[in-house]
Amino acid sequence: MKAISKNQLKVAKDGVRITRQMFQRSTGNLPQQDDLERCNCPKAGQSGHDSCGWCEVHNGPMFTCLCSLRKRELESAQLQKDTYQKELPGYLAQHPDEDPEIVGPCSHCGYPTSGLSCDNCK
Ligand SMILES: [Zn+2]
Ligand SMILES: [Zn+2]
Ligand SMILES: [Zn+2]
Repeated sequence: MKAISKNQLKVAKDGVRITRQMFQRSTGNLPQQDDLERCNCPKAGQSGHDSCGWCEVHNGPMFTCLCSLRKRELESAQLQKDTYQKELPGYLAQHPDEDPEIVGPCSHCGYPTSGLSCDNCK
């Protein structure tokens, strides 16, 4: 099936629209309302159009896939990890009375806290 998806990719990049057939083959359903417009959205990938466009990974409409969502989740998880590691020494220095064993990353922003969320997120 690789040859087919490569071919479709090339077609899509050449500016030929995602067709009803491509849509149906990928999702098993006929496109509803503005489905095809969203697949062919020229602003796909820009802010506010995260679920527009055609996903090259699973060869289907972006709004039926979790690829972009998954990517954002991974990015924010990495960001939280970085924040935690960067801020931990300073946090422990400022809170000498807190047991380092119970300090962990804030579930929202990753900042060190002894609770579920840090002071900024409370
Ligand atoms: Zn759009
Ligand atoms: Zn996908
Ligand atoms: Zn926080």
